[in-house]
Formats: sequence, structure tokens, C-alpha cells
Amino acid sequence: MSETSKPGNFITQIIDKDNEAGKNGGKVLTRFPPEPNGYLHIGHAKSICLNFGLAQRYNGQCNLRFDDTNPEKESVEYIESIKRDVEWLGFEWKEEAKFASDYFDRLFDFAKQLIQLGKAYVCELNAEQMREYRGTLKEPGKNSPYRDRSAEENMALFNDMANGKYKDGEVVLRAKIDMASPNINMRDPIIYRVRRVHHHQTGDKWCIYPMYDFTHCLSDAIEGITHSVCTLEFQDHRPLYDWVLDTLKTAHPQQIEFARLNLNYTVTSKRKLKLLVDEKHVHGWDDPRMPTISGLRRRGYTAKSIRNFCDRIGVTKSDSVVDVGMLEHAIREDLDATANRAMVVLNPIKVTLTNYPKDKEEIFTVNNHPKNEDAGAREVPFSKHLFVDAADFAEEPPKKWKRMTIDGAVRLRGGYVITCDEVIKNEAGEVVELLCRYDENTLGVNPEGYKPKGVIHWVSAKHAVDARVNLYDRLFVNEAPDANYEDKNFLDFINSESLATITAAKAEPSLLKSNKGQGFQFEREGYFCRDLKEDGMVFNRTVTLRDSWAKIEAKGK
Ligand code: ATP
Ligand code: MG
Repeated sequence: MSETSKPGNFITQIIDKDNEAGKNGGKVLTRFPPEPNGYLHIGHAKSICLNFGLAQRYNGQCNLRFDDTNPEKESVEYIESIKRDVEWLGFEWKEEAKFASDYFDRLFDFAKQLIQLGKAYVCELNAEQMREYRGTLKEPGKNSPYRDRSAEENMALFNDMANGKYKDGEVVLRAKIDMASPNINMRDPIIYRVRRVHHHQTGDKWCIYPMYDFTHCLSDAIEGITHSVCTLEFQDHRPLYDWVLDTLKTAHPQQIEFARLNLNYTVTSKRKLKLLVDEKHVHGWDDPRMPTISGLRRRGYTAKSIRNFCDRIGVTKSDSVVDVGMLEHAIREDLDATANRAMVVLNPIKVTLTNYPKDKEEIFTVNNHPKNEDAGAREVPFSKHLFVDAADFAEEPPKKWKRMTIDGAVRLRGGYVITCDEVIKNEAGEVVELLCRYDENTLGVNPEGYKPKGVIHWVSAKHAVDARVNLYDRLFVNEAPDANYEDKNFLDFINSESLATITAAKAEPSLLKSNKGQGFQFEREGYFCRDLKEDGMVFNRTVTLRDSWAKIEAKGK
């Protein structure tokens, strides 16, 4: 669906009104402004789809800008991963990626302008005093004793700050706004601090760094952003955003807040995701259990499914929690329509067809997709010895059992009907082999009066290839792992069974020709993808077949 034909939301209504009024000359320039202090997650995908989507809808542009004002937490690895993820999601930014640090010289000048205007001062209160003076939600703050310095004195001190005369944390530059403001963000917020750290973009040029609130609005203004879309937690910062731009009489983008994406059973905070990586609860940022874009990609999510999900959840002004089942539904829907089918036996037991000639082999041609003929067909070899899944046989079947049992007939998907005559067990009493008969008149047809109830998947033992299969499940067992608990935190809710690895699954040989990252429906088992990183036959389970959300959605209609 093109962006223009999608339903609008409260932000498109604002932009439509702006355009009708001729504001910004009808131009729309948005930005996606990540801080490069971690990998992007599914919440960021919502912001990316929104910002780039608005640019497409209005024939405008969207910038990718790194908000890099905390060099000690940032890295080039994160920058590269963010670019890769935005591109993979299918979006292009205008020109080169931008950095707030590109504007450090200009921000320094803007700060000096504020000083000249008598709207900023160098403050020597230490952190504890600063807290004391700030006041509380109920009580106003007190003016800093350094608040009334002259512009000349402030200018000299600010230059000293930039020239390295102070230790980290010794002095700060603060905006001079209103210590009695009911909005704590307006109580003379810090706009520059001393921090002697190397910066990944500007090297050792600076030992002072601007604060986010000062940097962000001015970066927007410098780039000529028209609509600065951010999440609700910035609502209380908007007066400061506006104050800086009004005071400095710059261009004035409009900040618009929307509700962030919260997903149940999921943590979406870079800080917490970093902890999962650092403490090795998962195998890196792109572990397929992570809600990062790189993790979802490795899990087998397609970019399209993530974009569809973001469209469906919509853009609103009030916080809510989205069911992770909706995200899973989006990938099932995409893969159901597009993924080729394949047969892989996860828990193999042997089947011997007693009446099939010993050295005979046949090749069956099996459609890759049940509904899409364009997907073509593949060749599946057949022989006397097969593997089927242990779960598809029951010696004492429950009621309505449709799979294999003694004297019961089942159809092999794409092949013959077989009937089980005898079970071979090991010393422990476990079934290790099934002796069966095949009926040669049943290839692709059901002769009169002959209707086996079940269809099972299988592979020819001689032709099967060994595969390692990672069965992934949700990373958290608790619906709200992130909530505030008295005596627990999100790490206590990690699902100890979020990964089960099968080392010797038996796969049909056509999978040898699959590509890394390619998605499949393993017949009757779920959706899987060939692992992007590892060589060889390694497959990750994307999702099971059971779609709880589809049912909920159908009921609602
Ligand atoms: P986190 O809370 O994970 O650390 P952040 O807000 O600090 O995220 P940024 O790099 O600052 O991460 O985010 C870049 C952009 O993505 C911001 O505009 C932010 O509002 C948006 N964003 C972050 N998390 C979400 C979310 N869960 N839903 C929607 N947008 C989000
Ligand atoms: Mg942030």
C-alpha cells in the first residue's frame, strides 16, 4: 500500500492543516534521531515507519540524525548497525546521515548568544546543591547564587570551560529561565557540561558537550525540520524546546508527541537490552530472541511484516500495550503467503516399508506452495527407509487421532498412503522403528473407498540431510517483565526454555540449495528461516503455526 493511500492519524491531520494554511511552504521534512548507544528495537521501528512514512506521504524527506551528545555511551558499531537496520526496513534517508556533533561549533555559538542575551550563566553548584536548589514537584526551586553574573563574566567562564580549565562536573552552563516554574525542565536546565571524553566523531576537539534538550531543538532548526515527531515523554520538554528556539529566534520546527510502542512479554529499552547482552543472557544484540531489528531479522521476520505491524498498531496520543501476538501474526501472514514449504523431521524415528523394493528410488514432484503456483515445485526423493516424527506415532492413540498407529493408514505428504504393521522398541521400551506397508495405487490419488484421515511429513533416510534447528520461544514468561515490582526485575522473568536446540533434525535435501536468511514453512511444524550468520544447515524457528491473534481478529470483525 502506498503511503498516500493509508489511513491518516492525528499527525497527518496536523500536517494537512499546516499545508492548507501554507505553513512551511507545504514542505514536510522529518527526522529519525536515534542516539547511537545501542541497537534499534521494534519500538524504534514504529518511529522509523512513522517519520519516513510521513516524508513519503507528503513527498517530503526524512533525515537520519544521530543524537550523539553522550560520547561515553556511544560507538561506531552502533552507528553502523542503525544505518543497516533503517535500510533493511526499506527506508532511505536524505543525503549523508547527519550527526548532532556536526553542529557542535554552531551550538557553541548559540550558547554564547544566550549568554550575551543574559539568558545563560555558568553555575558552580555541585550536583548535590543543584538538586537541593531545584525544588520538587510541589515546591519551587531557589535561584543559584551564580545566576546574576554579568554576560562578560559568563562569557569568560564559558570559554574557560571549553578551553579545559575545569574538571569534569566542576561547572556547568545553565539556561536562565525560571526556578519557580511548575515545569521542572524549565528550572534553569543545564545546557553544557564538562566531560573530558573522546568523541567518536569529533575526536578530542571538545571537552564540553551540549545537553540533549539544547542540542535536539537546535539540530532540528539547523536542518529545517518542519515536524519534529517524538514520543510522549518529551511532552514536558516541549516548553524548553520552544523556549530555546524562540529566545534564539531561529527557525521553529513543531514538536509533536505520539505514544511509544509497548509490547507485552517484551522489553524495549536500550539500557535493559544492553544488560541482557552484557550479562550474556542472550548471544548478542542480534540474538533471535531479542526484540531488536537485527534480532527479529535473524529470527526470520521480514521487513514487510514489521512495516505492516507498524501500520496496524497505528499512531495515537495515549499509551497502551500491544499484544506481541500481533507482531507474530504479521510474520505468519507474510510467510504463509510467500514462504516455500519444506519437510523437516525434528524428532526422527525410522520407518521401513517392508513391501518396497530394496534398491528402488523414486522422485516425487511436490509443489512449493499450496496456493501459489508461481512458486513452482521441487523434487523430493523417496525410498524404502524413511524418517517420520516420533510425535506422529502413538501406540495407544487418544480419541480422534489422525496420525500413525498400528493398523492405521496415513498419507505421506506428496507421496503414498502407508499402514503401520509393527513397532520395534529398544531395551528401554522406546519406539525406534515402525514397520509399514505402502500401497502403490495411492500416489497422488485416493482409490475408491480409501480415505486416510491424516497427512504427515517425512524424509527419505538415505537422502536426508542433518540440520540443526533452534526452537525459539518468547524471551520472557511474564506479560509485563518491565513493570515495577517490589522484589523482582525483568531478569527474573527470563524464559529458561526460550531456546531449545535440536542437533540432528532430518531435512529434505532441497534445503541444501536454500539461501541464508530464506524463510520456509516446515510442514506442520512452523515457520523457520535459514540462519543468516552460520554456515551449513542451521535453521531458526521464527514462529509456530498457531496464530492466536488471527482468531481474536476474526472475532472482532
Ligand atoms: P530507549 O528507551 O530504548 O533507550 P530512546 O528513546 O532512548 O530509546 P533514541 O535513540 O533516543 O532511543 O530513540 C530514537 C527515536 O525513537 C526517538 O525519537 C524515540 O522517541 C523513538 N523511540 C524510542 N523508543 C520507542 C518506542 N518504544 N516506540 C516508539 N518510538 C520510540
Ligand atoms: Mg532517547
